[in-house]
This record gives sequence, C-alpha cells and structure tokens, in this order.
Amino acid sequence: MTGETNTILPGVCYRDGKPTAADYNEAITDLLAAKHQLLSGQMMGCDVCGDSGHASQDGCHHDPLVLARQYAAATSIWCCWHCGFTAHNEDEANSHFGLAGTEHPVCISGLINVLHRFTQWLERADDPADDASYLNGEHAEQRATGRNGWDDIREIAADARVLLGPKL
Ligand SMILES: [Zn+2]
Ligand SMILES: [Zn+2]
Repeated sequence: MTGETNTILPGVCYRDGKPTAADYNEAITDLLAAKHQLLSGQMMGCDVCGDSGHASQDGCHHDPLVLARQYAAATSIWCCWHCGFTAHNEDEANSHFGLAGTEHPVCISGLINVLHRFTQWLERADDPADDASYLNGEHAEQRATGRNGWDDIREIAADARVLLGPKL
C-alpha cells in the first residue's frame, strides 16, 4: 500500500471509479504479499496492511482476494422479507421462496392457506343455492346484506381475496 505525502489514500480496493494500471499494480503487489505470507506460515503481522493482529488471509480487509470472496458471498444470498430466512444458494432459495411468480414463500404458506380456506368457507355459506344445511338451518334471508355481522365478514373476505391475489 502506498500513499502520497500529506494525503491519506484509501486502500486500492476502497477507491472509486474504474481501476487504473497503478491500481492493478498495487492490488497485484498486495496479492503477492498475501501469497508470500501464506507460504511462509507466519500467522501474525499482516504482509498486506501491516496490522500486527492478523495474517492477510484471516479476513484482512485490504487483501483483494479476501474482499472479492466476501463480495461474492454477500451478493449470492437472498433474504426473506417475511421471516428473515437467508438462502445461500439457488436450491435453498427455491425451497423457501418457491418458484418465482407461482408460489408463496413457505413461511407464509400456512397463513395463505388459512385465508384461502376462509374465503372458501364464506363462498359456501353465502351461496344462494345453499339449502341452509351448511350453517345448520340459517337461511339465505338471514344472511342478507345489511346484517352487520355478515357484512363485516364479507368485507374481511374481500380483503383476504386481495391479499391472495389472482393466482389462488
Ligand atoms: Zn491486514
Ligand atoms: Zn420467509
């Protein structure tokens, strides 16, 4: 790592913009220093940043390869908005989130099923063709619009249908 007099230059991995030839030279120098340290077996005193408390490959935040691997790992994970589950590969992601656009995440599928059953229950109870057997003798006129309890439950079901979306 180098710096000009009176200027604190960020480490090569922390600079903005496209890398320059000098940047690449500096990164290569850091990589060679890290490789040298690895081969030497010296585990204290970082050959890349000079810190006495670690070796470059043990998480030095100036070792270009350590940083590149951290970036690669950080950009290949998916975090569930609903429950916080973190998937680290495509298989884990598919098993939690389901196939894109066609399934609900498993963490909310129980809730979705309850909503679905609720709307189905109301459709059956509210069916004009129902002979009142489903609700033990309550007839259609007793479920008419204007009865507060039934109106409320129809509103709740309407909200549930919006949440369920067109796929279910
Ligand atoms: Zn270091
Ligand atoms: Zn989830």
